[in-house]
Amino acid sequence: MLAPSEVLKAKVCIVGEAGVGKTSLVRRFAYNAYDERYTPTLAAQVTKHEMPIEIEGTFVRVVLTLWDVMGEQSFLPLLEDVWLSRSQGVLAVADVTRPETFPAIRRWLEAVRRISGPVPVLVLANKVDLGPVPEAELHVLEADLGLAGWATSAKTGQNVGAAFRSLAEAIVRENLARLVAGPDRSTPTVGA
Ligand code: GDP
Ligand code: MG
Repeated sequence: MLAPSEVLKAKVCIVGEAGVGKTSLVRRFAYNAYDERYTPTLAAQVTKHEMPIEIEGTFVRVVLTLWDVMGEQSFLPLLEDVWLSRSQGVLAVADVTRPETFPAIRRWLEAVRRISGPVPVLVLANKVDLGPVPEAELHVLEADLGLAGWATSAKTGQNVGAAFRSLAEAIVRENLARLVAGPDRSTPTVGA
């Protein structure tokens, strides 16, 4: 018998330097579309997307709220609480044609860890239609920070759906015990 479908709402932040392809990845994932023009994102753009996930016999409707934030680290001190608080997963994006965008991910992750704690994070090495992944840079992030890396292209769609799905699955796993147990009744109600 199928378990009734649970609903899990999750805020996901997409971080990384300006121009790495954050907005394009969200557009590819949510609308299966792509635009060559570069329009810098101002502040943050929020896109909702629902996807069904099945893990260990539990069916979950995951409603992702994708926060595509401005890739300007100088705004972090001012806006990090608004951007990153209560996020349940993070996609950290770098551009394979600019190896320096890989180490830049560290600064974003420090803010994520400080504000949201140890939530699941994937590194997306984006624009693989333009060239190979700088393996050394990616490996340092995987080894030092324990992150899983994906080679993606928002242009061709390569691995985009798979990467978002993998993050959604990781978020479901984090919440599985609570979802299976049902709503938390352990907190005493005032006056009860
Ligand atoms: P953001 O600043 O991180 O949001 O980056 P954008 O999504 O706005 O992308 C910056 C530029 O890179 C745009 O001109 C995009 O068309 C281009 N771009 C994004 N992803 C890819 C990709 O996978 N392949 C290629 N060739 N170009 C991309
Ligand atoms: Mg953008």
